[in-house]
Amino acid sequence: MRILKLSVVALFLFLLAISSTSAQQPNTAEQAPKLEHFDPNVVDKTLDPCQDFYQFTCSKWMAAHPIPPDQAAWGTVSGLQYWNEGILRQALENASVLSSGRNGYEQKIGDYWAACMDEPRLEAAGGRDLKPGLDRIAAMKSKSELADQVAHIHMSAPGAWEGNDNQTPAALLGYGSQQDYDDSSRVVGGIDQGGLGLPNRDFYIKDDAKSKAILSKYQDHISKMLQLAGESASQAAADANVVIAIETDMAKAQMDNVARRDPKNLNNKMSLERVQALTPSFDWKRYLADVASPPSSPHYLVSAPAFFEELEQLIQLHSVDDWKAYLRWQLVHGSAPYLNKAFVDENWNFYSHTLLGSENQLPRWRRCVRGADRDLGMALGQAYVGVAFPPANKERTVNLVHDMEQALNQDITGLDWMQPATKQQAKVKLHAIEDKIGYPNQWRDYSSVKIVRDSWLNNVREATTFEFHRQLNKIGKPVDRAEWVMTPPTIDAYYDAQLNTINFPAGILQPPFFDNSKEDAVNYGAIGVVIGHEITHGFDDQGRKFDARGNLRDWWMPQDATAYEERGECIAQQYTEEVPEAGVKQDGHLTQGEDTADNGGLRLAFMALGAKLQAAGKSLDEKDADGWTPRQKFFLAYGFSWCDQFRPELMRTQVLTNPHSLPKYRVNNVVANMPEFQQAFSCKAGTPMVRANQCRVW
Ligand SMILES: [Zn+2]
Repeated sequence: MRILKLSVVALFLFLLAISSTSAQQPNTAEQAPKLEHFDPNVVDKTLDPCQDFYQFTCSKWMAAHPIPPDQAAWGTVSGLQYWNEGILRQALENASVLSSGRNGYEQKIGDYWAACMDEPRLEAAGGRDLKPGLDRIAAMKSKSELADQVAHIHMSAPGAWEGNDNQTPAALLGYGSQQDYDDSSRVVGGIDQGGLGLPNRDFYIKDDAKSKAILSKYQDHISKMLQLAGESASQAAADANVVIAIETDMAKAQMDNVARRDPKNLNNKMSLERVQALTPSFDWKRYLADVASPPSSPHYLVSAPAFFEELEQLIQLHSVDDWKAYLRWQLVHGSAPYLNKAFVDENWNFYSHTLLGSENQLPRWRRCVRGADRDLGMALGQAYVGVAFPPANKERTVNLVHDMEQALNQDITGLDWMQPATKQQAKVKLHAIEDKIGYPNQWRDYSSVKIVRDSWLNNVREATTFEFHRQLNKIGKPVDRAEWVMTPPTIDAYYDAQLNTINFPAGILQPPFFDNSKEDAVNYGAIGVVIGHEITHGFDDQGRKFDARGNLRDWWMPQDATAYEERGECIAQQYTEEVPEAGVKQDGHLTQGEDTADNGGLRLAFMALGAKLQAAGKSLDEKDADGWTPRQKFFLAYGFSWCDQFRPELMRTQVLTNPHSLPKYRVNNVVANMPEFQQAFSCKAGTPMVRANQCRVW
């Protein structure tokens, strides 16, 4: 369960990894990857930075780098993703060569790679590996067996849709371990709403023409997939109808994304008896026994009790045959990317083409690299770190993180809207933040995961079962503070509210974010802002509700909380706006935490750069040899790191599901709030990049 891990990058990168599309160089698959190093001359000097800073910074770069056909987006970060994957590919290929000298780790990653890359074998197998699961569902006699069936799917089918941090993708419901909200040192069982095949409830409920068209295509997709799994056309069409009916009712019963942002709404402690009483027709004891969950959870956290009450109605309403159709769909859906071409193509066609806008599939090697990163990445990451993250990079990053924490300390000291008592508490929390940089201190032991050379789907199932049990085995034990949830090559970062840690995988500590060949102004504007963003998450509208130990506890004086909420509301209003290119409106209350983190991140990084230059006797406003001042390059490097163009389908899906604003707003809305930016480019009052009502929280 990833309820309170707040990341910096829109998670669509992750999402694409699972749904088998995305990043590749333009036109040809095998061009050498190119890291983007910031150069101020990339800007379009014919444009006015005060009119549209994002266009000023990015339009020339974007014109020279159109979105490749197998991509839903293309930005300055895309070359890095290609580069990271190339390093992993090399390690996987080397390990896949059969030799007597391979150690256990090389056997795992090498055979995983070989099984995934073996297209002829996958083609010959067809849907064969689905058969045991389908037989199991066919043998279901009564609804009392629903718990067994769901348990089996949870343990074996990883799902074709992940990366949406507001929705646990799982058949019927989600179950896992999580830290207790009131006592973060304890790990308990967590029960979440689930059951959908579309990204979130809005996709079933909204009744505009575009939403209806997508729902109708989804229904066709379900029908086609069930036919591939062996059903007749008429049976598959009837089953698709049933699935849509069940999922739509589940969607209506779900708590929405905005309500889920308030941890108080999710903190519902229940005994197993109370959980059982919500949904009497789902046998929880049977489910927990099937998944071999430890019996030691002192209580369970149920994120959305109303969902489980409604689920009872649904189980009663639908026949055993209806539920069998739903289970078949969930099984096939979760297995599709790992089967033969017909399944893979149909899965791609809906999830990547219809929902995100990609025109071509990713080359196979990139899908296999991403699979290996997901399934064995906490060991495979060693190969990446060895090549891509030398000690000098770690050292400079550690210093940057310290500078940024120092900047927030200074910022808190100077706040005019916060009382001393709250300031003191804020500083206690700030100083307790633990920094995790690059990679975990201990590599995960995958020795119990059985990896074979002749079935990718079986390998994925093995890894899914391993991970599911690894999570459940935490229940009732003290929390492991050293754990990471992102693999080392991941181009992302996160703040963990319940551990009070900031985490920067080596994958994002690369150009265009961290560039050891560049001056401080550039690094503070790019990776400095990412670091500031994650620190600010500890103090955004969600993070501020947790204390230094990660417990959900109110440490704010009432008048300071009120002042905070007014400031937060300014941000939420600023970002509530129509996105004409996507045909939808952005909900500033969904993106409020991320937007607050972007604004805080840029301000803290600017403060840190100022302090650093001052200590060295340098000025922010003195031109360098390249004709630009450090102040200007700081903002340009920020804009450049977010140059990213999206297809309209991805834009729409992101606005509806993702708590991150689109890149254009992440740049323009933030700089328009900062007088320090207006000074950099001499922007006059009344121009779009000088907001009349400037919002500021941190
Ligand atoms: Zn974030």
